[in-house]
Order: sequence, then C-alpha cells, then structure tokens
Amino acid sequence: MKKRICVFAGDGIGQEIVPEAIKVLEAIGTRFDHSFECEYAQVGGAAIDSAGIPLPSESLALAKDSDAVLLGAVGGPKWEGLDYERRPERALLGLREQLGLFANLRPAKMYSALIEASTLKPEVIDGIDVLVVRELTGGIYFGKPKGIEQTSTGHKGINTEVYTTEEITRIAEVAFQAARKRRCLVTSIDKANVLESSELWRRVVIEVHKKYPDVELRHMYVDNCAMQLVRKPKQFDVVVTTNLFGDILSDEAAMLTGSIGMLPSASIGSTVGMFEPIHGSAPDIAGKNMANPIGMIASVAMMLNYAFDLPKEAELIEQAIQMTLDQGFRTKDIESEGTTLLGTMEMGDTILQNLGRA
Ligand code: NAD
Repeated sequence: MKKRICVFAGDGIGQEIVPEAIKVLEAIGTRFDHSFECEYAQVGGAAIDSAGIPLPSESLALAKDSDAVLLGAVGGPKWEGLDYERRPERALLGLREQLGLFANLRPAKMYSALIEASTLKPEVIDGIDVLVVRELTGGIYFGKPKGIEQTSTGHKGINTEVYTTEEITRIAEVAFQAARKRRCLVTSIDKANVLESSELWRRVVIEVHKKYPDVELRHMYVDNCAMQLVRKPKQFDVVVTTNLFGDILSDEAAMLTGSIGMLPSASIGSTVGMFEPIHGSAPDIAGKNMANPIGMIASVAMMLNYAFDLPKEAELIEQAIQMTLDQGFRTKDIESEGTTLLGTMEMGDTILQNLGRA
C-alpha cells in the first residue's frame, strides 16, 4: 500500500509526540511493506510565527492533497492575546470545515495496567472499550436562528437544533461501519421523548440500520446515557449522537479511563480524515521530554484502521502499547508506585521495541 500523509506537529508537546508516532508508523511500513510518505507543514502558533496566520494556504493544500492528516496539537500562551480569528485553534476549525470532517470518533479504552488512574471502581471499568461517534458540523452549534435579541424586558438568547435526513444518514453510516470493525453494537443517543430533531434522528438511524442487519442497534435517551456511562460502561460498544450530546458524552467517556494523554481521536469526512490525540499542546510540560506520546501513537493506529483499512497493523500498535504498560513503564502523567518512569522519547522507543515483539 502507498499512502501520502500530511503531518502537522503544531505547537508545544505536539513537536515532541509527533516524532514518536512517526517512528512507529515507519516501523509498520517496513514490516508490512507499505510506503507511507510523510510531508510536513505548519499550523497553529508555529504557522502564525512563520506565515502570520494559523492555517496557511500551502498547509491546507497539502492536507487536501493527502490520504490522511496526522496532527499533534496547537495553541499556547504566546498566542493567547491574539484576536479570536487569528488564534492557533482556528486552524482546527478551518481544517474541519475545509476537509468536510463531519464525524468525530473518540475511543475510550481502559488499559488494565492503568486501572488505578480512574476515579471509578476497578470492577466497573476493567475492560471498557467505548467509541463515541459525534456529529461534528451540524446541530445546535450551527443551527439558525441564533443570537441574542433585545426584548421589552431584557434580552433573549436563541440557538436552534437542526438536523436533516442527509446529516443523520451519513453519521449513522459511520457508526454502523465502525461497529463492524468492533463488537457490532451501536447505541444511538437522543432525546426523542422531548425534541422533534431527536425524533427525526431516531427515525433516520432506524432506516439506515436496515442496511446493517449484522449490527445490533439500541436507543437510549441522553440523560440515561450520561448515567449509564458511569454506572455500567461495559454495556457500550459504539455510541452515536449529535454534536451537543457528543461533546459532553465524549468527555465523560474519556474521563472513565483517567488520563488525557492516552486517548486518540479521528475526524472523518467524505475524503481525507484527520487523526490527533484528544489533548492540547500542554504548555506546562512542553520541551521537557515529559509528555505522554501514547495518545498520538494510538492516533496512528486509528489512521491505519479507519483511513487505510489496515486493522491488523493497527492492532499490533495497540498490542505494543498494552505490552509497554504491562511491563510497568509510565510517563509522568500516569506514573504510580512501583512503575518505571520514562520520558517521551524513551516511551516511544519502548513501544517501538515492543512492536518488534508483538
Ligand atoms: P491540555 O490538554 O494541553 O493540558 C491539560 C493538562 O493535561 C495539562 O496539565 C497538561 O500538562 C496535561 N497533558 C495534556 N496532554 C498530555 C500528555 N500527552 N502527556 C502528559 N500530560 C498531558 O489543555 P489546556 O492546558 O487547556 O490547553 C493548552 C493549549 O492547548 C491551549 O492553547 C488550548 O487552546 C490548546 N488545545 C489544543 C487542542 C488541540 O490541538 N486539539 C485541544 C485542546 C486544547
């Protein structure tokens, strides 16, 4: 297989974790005889410094012309005083919009070696493996009318939840296809007992499901889901939901696993997907070889699985991460008594060695 990958290391720890992920990607390429051609460009604060804007046209063109985008993180205190439109984080919105990334996939997987990092009881979280599929470009964040209007007694704030059949169909397709790569169960989250937009959501998801008879479909109201995620998270495989509900539930699911540095994400559209860890640029630890590269390395595994349909290669990376944790190696953020502390580079090297054994 031959693929072109656009790599944006970005800012802060992005510069440290991306090289570790690339080492792993190259090792997979060599082992399976795939050609992964990586091309680098700047986004975020780094791009503001060199080109004056967070998403220069050359960077966007490179992303559009690639088979997938790998991104570290953007942002930092240096650029916090800039106008909102010129901030590093605008690069992410620009990429989402320009690449048409309408689906955000956020897995929350519990590695048994890290069970003590969670705030929940071990028996509740041991073995959880949930994938939240969030609709990313529709719903109440974009629906119109919106705004704050004057009234005779004060003001009123307005936002509108809107979903069309097309928007629901395409996100449901992503969820059912993702479930086929996993345990073949989709739980669709809505508020169909109160909201008309949710009523349509449920109707369309049921319709799309007819194409996926091998996948089980369940429905759950969002308030119940919020409760079930902490009560019995193992009941979930793929959770599909709207932009607003997904924003909240994906953070709740992530926290079940206890560490922000461990988790990858994928944003998928019609053509080029973008893969990045869920955390930010962590300016407090940047440049100190302290960052956990696992979320970034796991993002490479997601890219191989979802963008290139290489599940075996992705699984090997997951195994190498698992072995490294089982051997007791930790970065500072997940360190506990009796474990061995590693820096970012050493953690990357250890995962690479274990990849050779997996
Ligand atoms: P953050 O995720 O960068 O950091 C939050 C805390 O988690 C910090 O204490 C940090 O040290 C720690 N942390 C995060 N990733 C880690 C890792 N891999 N290993 C070890 N520890 C890790 O969130 P923040 O501090 O709110 O934001 C910092 C900057 O990042 C801001 O400019 C923000 O806008 C930006 N940001 C970018 C993205 C992105 O690029 N997708 C996402 C969130 C925040």
